[in-house]
Amino acid sequence: MSTESIVILGGSFAGLGAAHYAFKHVIPQLPKKDGVTYNVVMVNPSKDLYWRFAAPRACASKELMPTNKIFYPIEPAFKYAGTNFRFVQGTATHVDSAGQTVSVTTAGGEQQSILYAALVVATGFTTPSPLFTQTTDAAALESVYDVFQQSLKNAKTVVIGGGGPVGVETAGEIAELLNGKPGGWFASAPKTPKVKVTLVCGDKKLLPILREAISETAQQFLNKLGCDVVFNTKVVSATKAGEQEGAKTKVELSNGKTIEADIYIDATGMRPNTGFLPKEWLDNRNRLSCNPQTLRVEHSSATRIYAVGDVSSYARGGVMDMYEAVPVAMTNLKNDLISHISGKAHSGDRHYTANLKEQQVVPIGTQKGVGAFGGYRLPSMMVNFIKGKDYMIKQLAEGTMKGDAYTKDPKWTPVQQVGKAGLSSG
Ligand SMILES: Cc1cc2nc3c(=O)[nH]c(=O)nc-3n(C[C@H](O)[C@H](O)[C@H](O)COP(=O)(O)OP(=O)(O)OC[C@H]3O[C@@H](n4cnc5c(N)ncnc54)[C@H](O)[C@@H]3O)c2cc1C
Repeated sequence: MSTESIVILGGSFAGLGAAHYAFKHVIPQLPKKDGVTYNVVMVNPSKDLYWRFAAPRACASKELMPTNKIFYPIEPAFKYAGTNFRFVQGTATHVDSAGQTVSVTTAGGEQQSILYAALVVATGFTTPSPLFTQTTDAAALESVYDVFQQSLKNAKTVVIGGGGPVGVETAGEIAELLNGKPGGWFASAPKTPKVKVTLVCGDKKLLPILREAISETAQQFLNKLGCDVVFNTKVVSATKAGEQEGAKTKVELSNGKTIEADIYIDATGMRPNTGFLPKEWLDNRNRLSCNPQTLRVEHSSATRIYAVGDVSSYARGGVMDMYEAVPVAMTNLKNDLISHISGKAHSGDRHYTANLKEQQVVPIGTQKGVGAFGGYRLPSMMVNFIKGKDYMIKQLAEGTMKGDAYTKDPKWTPVQQVGKAGLSSG
């Protein structure tokens, strides 16, 4: 009896999607061979999915976003797969593509080597601030939030660096929590806010992927919550004067100004979790480089390796893209495996097409927000209804855990392969 494994690194939005897709549409179609079973092995540092969307509110207040709403256990979501699903709580440290093994350090400190027939890399990204990333387990992130919420109680000056959605949402949540909700629709910015909240934006407008008029509305909403926005300015350095309670952070800006902040939050972008992969597989932004249509890693040393989610070179960021990308990567994985196991000719590739429409939904505090969907501007009330109430936990969390987006597989047309760098047999 032998087992062929589809190994998935990462157990967040992309990894969960890939695993559900594997059970629903890949494993049932793999060639039946005497004495061979197929399984999915998922490696993830935490036993829980972290509902990252809600981080801007969860970091600010446990009352507004309780921790039991932001963590969802992974293993029970695959009960239906029985022993064909194996969860390893740990971190991948090395991929040996010649031996088709992944080295893993488990949460308990043990070293494991896991053999794969196909490998899905879904290790996402880390944020510079610990407020938006679950690095180990739920308890560790909860204690980061405890310390942060304690420090918010006495803060008089808060600086947030980064004018993207994470910076804007976090500024909105913190400004509303500390300065209160604005009086009414036509309320103006508070003349003397209790806490000075400043959002530092490197660009000439907030929210780079949205049109200017929407960015302006975001700025107005922030101003009404007592948050100033500084444009065309970057945070050059942020130096904390020690680790003691109440220690200030000196925030130096590219416009020559310096702010002595009680709290500084770095919301400037993402760092792909690719340190464990061979350097030659990465692109110039340190993402896992893959064919933008097949999502297969095409480096000559990579055999049956696929990139899904924000770790990969194809991704624009965000979860919506994955609903298209996961089926593509996993279908190509399936066809590559079938051809490899059966020795039959490859049945062709499935191709991914990026959705480049203006699309982003950004709550600003618990009452307002801005955004666009499918190229159409959304009114503030709609943003609040879709996302501002609970960061989409009610609509999406359960379905994400169950893999609802992958229950059905839409029709697609195979494209015959031209180059097959990723298909060498191994
Ligand atoms: C504050 C915030 C708010 C957001 N809000 C939205 C939103 O409203 N809508 C939206 O569409 N997107 C939003 N995003 C973006 C969204 O969170 C990402 O697109 C999504 O998390 C990417 O999913 P992923 O599975 O690719 O990677 P990640 O969510 O980054 O998950 C990667 C997983 O891999 C694990 N991992 C890392 N290294 C290893 C390793 N070596 N071995 C094994 N496992 C590893 C990580 O621990 C993690 O569990 C937000 C992001 C942030 C930071």
